[in-house]
Amino acid sequence: MTEPAQSKVDMEKLVSLCRRRGFIFPSSEIYGGLSSCWDYGPLGVELKRNIKDAWWRAVVQQRDDMVGLDASILMHPQTWQASGHLEGFSDPLVECKGCHLRWRSDELNADCCPECGGELTEPRLFNLMFKTFMGPVEDEASIVYLRPETAQGMFVNFENVLNTTRKRLPFGIAQIGKSFRNEVTTGNFIFRSREFEQMEIEYFVRPGTDKEWFDYWVEERLNWYASLGIRRQNLKLRPHTKEELAHYARECSDINYLFPMGWAELEGIANRGDFDLVQHAKSSGKTLSYYDEETKEHIVPYIIEPSAGVDRTFLAILCDAYDEDIAEGEKRVLLHLNPDLAPIKAAVLPLSRKETLAPMAKELYADLRKKWMVSYDDAQSIGRRYRRQDEIGTPFCVTIDFESLEDKQVTIRERDSLRQIRVPIDSLKTTLQAKLAGEDLFVLPPGGKVWKE
Ligand code: ATP
Repeated sequence: MTEPAQSKVDMEKLVSLCRRRGFIFPSSEIYGGLSSCWDYGPLGVELKRNIKDAWWRAVVQQRDDMVGLDASILMHPQTWQASGHLEGFSDPLVECKGCHLRWRSDELNADCCPECGGELTEPRLFNLMFKTFMGPVEDEASIVYLRPETAQGMFVNFENVLNTTRKRLPFGIAQIGKSFRNEVTTGNFIFRSREFEQMEIEYFVRPGTDKEWFDYWVEERLNWYASLGIRRQNLKLRPHTKEELAHYARECSDINYLFPMGWAELEGIANRGDFDLVQHAKSSGKTLSYYDEETKEHIVPYIIEPSAGVDRTFLAILCDAYDEDIAEGEKRVLLHLNPDLAPIKAAVLPLSRKETLAPMAKELYADLRKKWMVSYDDAQSIGRRYRRQDEIGTPFCVTIDFESLEDKQVTIRERDSLRQIRVPIDSLKTTLQAKLAGEDLFVLPPGGKVWKE
């Protein structure tokens, strides 16, 4: 397979679509915005939630060996001592403005980035963690940090999860939540921000089986992105070289996506060995190990960590779905979103605003929205309304016309192919359900017919 050199999507167009249709707004916009912070609008919040739900279904709901967790953002400060975050991030750092690699300025011999030759930021004593105070007194003793990753919440709860779920190795903990990093440079829309959301797995395995589980998770995670409809040619695995491995990692591979600004990390998968449990055991004085009933031995499991970003997945999905074509003689922008991810699953469109059609259309709308996010639109021409739905990735439009009053049938229009069928109202819900699950539009319910090829 030849690798595409460049994304076909223009970031400007995506940002503009997100802004125009209410997917993403700059944070605190009325005050001029807050650098690198973003607000997910009415459609963005739906798409984002659908991404998180898809991840949760795949890694928790449909597996016997995984459980979920929702740890607090603020953690005991000792956590960050043990994890190495307090120490590791308080060096004078410079960051490359091009590839974003950070360098200890005191160890650097050149005045440009050793990796790519890019321009460097000014050095500063830098701790990536946001600091705040717990309680009314703002002194050293009350300092706490906003977590820079969700992972530590899972390590410190290892024993709690083990004792309460009676899981046997190998098993994992999954968590979705906000993380905060005072990044030196931010940018590329939601790709790198200071407040973002992660979907992380900590998978505990027997030492010696870690290599095979690492490979398993790399494959599993690549398949997950493909299952969302992301084209495989836009995904690439990038194994880390020995020199760039983080201090805790035995092996690491990034899943990269071809974003408009080039290939960049979507998810990192690391074999962390026993580093985290050993560190937290030392720091807390607790025994963080697993008792093997068969061999009567205490084992410190190794950890495989697939760590993904919700916001970067959101951006990758938008990039992959964005398209422009000519439909019904007009230029249209459309998002080929997987129906599972689409913010709105169907739009109910009465052909005219006339009073005669409204009761039937509103009744259908009320019924469908018990099951799905559905929108109702009766403003402007039907063509304009179709365009509006195409642009936000709504897979199906349901149109009620004057004949519907007589024959109790409605048309369903498919976003990508523009094909239409006409089905009895009684079978609308089951038909939509089947089509949303991927059934071909022209598989018809009893009484249904092809309307438009
Ligand atoms: P990068 O090298 O791009 O800074 P990283 O290697 O520091 O990323 P990890 O610590 O491996 O990132 O975090 C796991 C995932 O969390 C990343 O793959 C990414 O999807 C997401 N992530 C990390 N930092 C940010 C950020 N500042 N903004 C948005 N998402 C982020």
